[in-house]
Amino acid sequence: PHKLVMIPGPTPVVRSIQDQMGRETIAFGDARFIEDFRSVVKDLKELWRCDGQAFVIAGSGTLAMEMAMANISKPGNSVLVCSNGFFGDRYVDICRRRGLQVDVISAPWGKSVTPEDVEGKLSKKKYDIVTATHVETSTGVMAPIAEIGKITKEHDALFVVDGVAATGGAEEYLDTMGIDVLISCSQKAFGVAPGLALLWASKKALDKRKSLGTIVDSYMDFEKWLPVMEDPSKYWGTPPINLIWALKQSLEIIKEEGLEERYARHKKQAAVVDEAVSSMGFSVLADKAFRAPTLAVYLYPEEAGIDDAKFRAIAADEGIYIAGCLGNYAGKGFRMGHMGNIDKHILISAVAAIERTAVRNGIKLELGRALGILQRGLIEES
Ligand code: PMP
Repeated sequence: PHKLVMIPGPTPVVRSIQDQMGRETIAFGDARFIEDFRSVVKDLKELWRCDGQAFVIAGSGTLAMEMAMANISKPGNSVLVCSNGFFGDRYVDICRRRGLQVDVISAPWGKSVTPEDVEGKLSKKKYDIVTATHVETSTGVMAPIAEIGKITKEHDALFVVDGVAATGGAEEYLDTMGIDVLISCSQKAFGVAPGLALLWASKKALDKRKSLGTIVDSYMDFEKWLPVMEDPSKYWGTPPINLIWALKQSLEIIKEEGLEERYARHKKQAAVVDEAVSSMGFSVLADKAFRAPTLAVYLYPEEAGIDDAKFRAIAADEGIYIAGCLGNYAGKGFRMGHMGNIDKHILISAVAAIERTAVRNGIKLELGRALGILQRGLIEES
């Protein structure tokens, strides 16, 4: 039976995007593909307001994280990692392996590193790079990127933002937020299958890359990919043709909806789903002030004595994939995405499946009550 993929990525892939992946693959030198690739790169650059270059590379989000560092740092550089959880910590490992000097600000899970925390560090020591995770997928927390970006600029460091669980669902612009390298990937708010690493580099970041001369990395080198992104008739590595077509379709959907409208829809969806899921006794891990619009961690009601593995197995049986929690919260709740090209029908089905799952796990509730709350919220939305 059909199961809704409500984990925080991959997200549901709509038919029109799937159709692009099912097309007969053509040569990457075919003029029709070259034009499609060109329009994808142009749209990414323009929509996210990047004065440098956008890159579309075969790979996952982690490749994009690593690629950002490969192109703007050299061993010995100092990096300040703003970590709000599991994926923030991943940057610490990536940086240390590259011989970078790393300091970390770690927020308690559910909260975010604040602009004041960053100012505190930057005013005491010179950093070359600051990294932050826009939406932390382990906690459902959104960081104040624009404010951190402003401080980073004032201290003349480069600002790297992990937008994997944010881009296309949470407001994010390179120019106004002071972002030098934004990294993301295809399987989250873009609603495309996994397989594309996406990067946006500001002019300042590209200048930094040039100043480094030859770097040890080849596949990840901006200088190797720049000619291709500027003119996709050029070759460096074989482009993932069908995924690029799928991304083109995703961008068509995004342009049709409008980016601002898309951000507003995600915010509204998050609030409505929270209200419905909370009414069953689950609680949102993220502080309200930092609540991400793209996904949430819902903690089990303590008194219900939920067996986590059983809860998610029953959820799958009821037709919905949800994710387990990470770190100290493993076993204590579930993570649910509600981003990308989802609609009211998907949200209704998802919350209904959670209701049935809760009842089958012994949580006392009146079936349909949470759905009613969701229904009311969805009416107000339109
Ligand atoms: N950063 C964040 C915020 C993520 O959520 C993820 C994946 N869930 C990654 C990085 C890594 O991306 P990938 O799994 O595609 O390598």
